[in-house]
Amino acid sequence: MPRAHNFAAGPAAIPLPALQQAREDIFDFGGSGVSPMELSHRGKEFEAIHQEAKSLLKELMALPEEFKILFLQGGASLQFGMVPMNFLAPEKSADYINTGTWSKKAIKEAKLFGKVNIAASSEETKFDRIPDLDSIRFDPGAVYVHITSNNTIEGSEYHKFPKTGGVPLVADMSSDILSRPLDVRPFGLIYAGAQKNLGPAGLALVLIREDFLAKANANLTTMLRYQVHVDEDSRYNTPPTWGVYMLRNVLRWVKTLGGLPAMEARNKKKADLLYKTIDESGGFYRGTVLKESRSLMNVPFRLPSEELEARFLTEAKKENLLQLKGHRSVGGIRASIYNALELESVEALCDFMNRFMGKAV
Ligand SMILES: *Cc1c(COP(=O)(O)O)cnc(C)c1O
Repeated sequence: MPRAHNFAAGPAAIPLPALQQAREDIFDFGGSGVSPMELSHRGKEFEAIHQEAKSLLKELMALPEEFKILFLQGGASLQFGMVPMNFLAPEKSADYINTGTWSKKAIKEAKLFGKVNIAASSEETKFDRIPDLDSIRFDPGAVYVHITSNNTIEGSEYHKFPKTGGVPLVADMSSDILSRPLDVRPFGLIYAGAQKNLGPAGLALVLIREDFLAKANANLTTMLRYQVHVDEDSRYNTPPTWGVYMLRNVLRWVKTLGGLPAMEARNKKKADLLYKTIDESGGFYRGTVLKESRSLMNVPFRLPSEELEARFLTEAKKENLLQLKGHRSVGGIRASIYNALELESVEALCDFMNRFMGKAV
């Protein structure tokens, strides 16, 4: 099967077994005579898919009972607004750590609903790091502390989380959810667009802790209340059924491979190989993030000139190494190496990088 090496940042590669399962089910889901896309969201077939996706998530992430799982729409971007809309008010304040483009978008939305304290930022150094967590002074009165656990565009990632003195963490984990084991207990809410590590675009995952949910504002439009989606088990209206079905397939694959410890080992192996290739290139390839803050998911790097970068991308494409262009806001090269990307794809990229350098210097 001619599958490309897909380094896309999102929508990103989906594990082949999850796609193969979809091919098997596409016209006839389990003898129902209809496609997963044609199932009623209130029928027993979809109910089984929905509950399996939830129970796999619960198992893989070791979610305690008090965490509710929601399947929503509107992407991570709607969560930028939905979080402060539910939890802030003009007299209330939240702490935000600014680590890149997506953090800034979250901050912009929060300011519409309440006070925002930028507890730490790495903007002065062009987002080349996660700020030193031990020197952050959090506001003890804050309703929550918002972080972006992995900065998809800049290529930095938290390798430990800040100690907030009991204030719930709220995290945008769009680009590193399920990539490693996680202790969810300090988090009041976690959200992620599905199109990086979970499945197709159109689905957003929200995990919310009951005691945090209890503090949400009630005077909001129905669709933007977390409580409504919790009460209706994500079926107040028609949920993104295809996205939930594909998520289930992806979660089955994660479980088959050995869960999150196996994902982490696999992701480390890929990232180590790629960073090693960059670091041992004698400065030809230059990483843009401090070593201790480097992401295991998105690896941005530069070449000696923009002209060489353009040539790199053209020649990479000829070898089926796709979607390596850095985000338009930062330029350069970016290899996204999420869960689904195989080690052999990173090996093919590193081999190409070494050959390209050999020709260029
Ligand atoms: C991709 C991404 C987003 C945006 O997600 P949408 O689903 O397109 O709204 C937000 N935050 C992070 C960290 C991302 O990687």
